[in-house]
Amino acid sequence: MSKGICILGATGSIGVSTLDVVARHPDAYRVVALTAHRNTDALFEQCLAHRPDYAVVSDADKAAEFAARIAQSPLAGIKVLAGAEGLSQVAVLPEVDAVMAAIVGGAGLLPTLAAAQAGKTVLLANKEALVMSGQVFLEAVRASGAVLLPIDSEHNAIFQCMPAGYATGTPATAARRILLTASGGPFRQTPLTELPHVTPAQAIAHPKWDMGKKISVDSATMMNKGLELIEACLLFSMPPEAIQVVIHPQSIIHSMVDYVDGSVLAQMGNPDMRTPIAHALAWPARFDSGVAPLDIFKVARMDFERPDLERFPCLGLAVEAVSAGGLMPAVLNAANEIAVQAFLDEKIRFTDIARVIAASMREFTPLPADSLAAVLQADAEARAAAERIVNGMAA
Ligand code: NAD
Ligand code: MG
Repeated sequence: MSKGICILGATGSIGVSTLDVVARHPDAYRVVALTAHRNTDALFEQCLAHRPDYAVVSDADKAAEFAARIAQSPLAGIKVLAGAEGLSQVAVLPEVDAVMAAIVGGAGLLPTLAAAQAGKTVLLANKEALVMSGQVFLEAVRASGAVLLPIDSEHNAIFQCMPAGYATGTPATAARRILLTASGGPFRQTPLTELPHVTPAQAIAHPKWDMGKKISVDSATMMNKGLELIEACLLFSMPPEAIQVVIHPQSIIHSMVDYVDGSVLAQMGNPDMRTPIAHALAWPARFDSGVAPLDIFKVARMDFERPDLERFPCLGLAVEAVSAGGLMPAVLNAANEIAVQAFLDEKIRFTDIARVIAASMREFTPLPADSLAAVLQADAEARAAAERIVNGMAA
């Protein structure tokens, strides 16, 4: 029998790749719900192509117009829901088995957590949701018996390199280290003196991956790797000291696990998110993703470098946040979201992103992240602090 899928953030880069894979397997998956924030034209096209039962427009201003458009079209049977509540409603529908969490940023936390609480198979692309809520999220997964499968290519690679039985509870005690790979982004070799002057357009032109704007800027600052380091600590119960970030510009190895006997297992493939998406959709089996086979002769060589924390101070800040623990990762994430948006809006410079985050973190002590309320409060306070710091810089 086919499984029902809800795609949160269907119109984004991960959402589109997910629909591409799902459309290849109509016997395996049926699209129950699609969500978008403001891009209702793209959502309408997706509704035409995939005929979901529900469509959610989370921006309340855009939802009424979209509902009217659906009602006057051959898609009139589709139920249109609005606002953030609509997202959580579709994530827990009984006919939904799997939820692709592909909203960007903290906006994805509540519906993703709702899916986890409802015991769904959660396909997690939205790393910010996990970084913010940490143990609160993992505890929800444990309590409901939800299945959590990583979509982030590195974490999906690590998951694939873990021992058999890992997903069903066998601990990976013989895994001593994770080698978390990173492309190094567009500014890996840019002279440091030029970094204050790089533009948003340059920052979002990623050399290897085609992604949404926020994660593209995060890749340029390497905050993406910082968030991923925190994500890996949580998903694989590893201390930050056991995770080594490795710059690998070709992006062919998607991460590695180092075992006590000296074996290092790597997962490789072309840099195309349809591979980890298809892996999680088919898990524990496998099916076609549409990704071309890896041409190892064309790859020809692979390079590995240590990250330079002077060039990438955001990576150091993420290590500080995870080491401080408690609500500090939520503070880091919130301040980063504000700083990245301010950079995209040309209010601050590229190199100010790390300064805003560092200054925001200094205003907080790492209280325990023991409830959703505490996480949401830290998130809101850190956003306010970062906004204030941005405005001070821009003035
Ligand atoms: P994107 O910007 O392309 O898409 C974001 C999606 O979220 C869109 O559908 C948008 O409508 C929706 N959205 C935006 N703001 C929202 C809000 N306030 N409320 C509800 N919905 C909202 O982003 P993306 O590149 O697809 O990334 C999505 C997530 O996946 C991010 O957390 C990112 O870190 C993660 N991820 C992406 C990639 C990639 O290759 N793109 C790889 C690994 C992880
Ligand atoms: Mg990644």
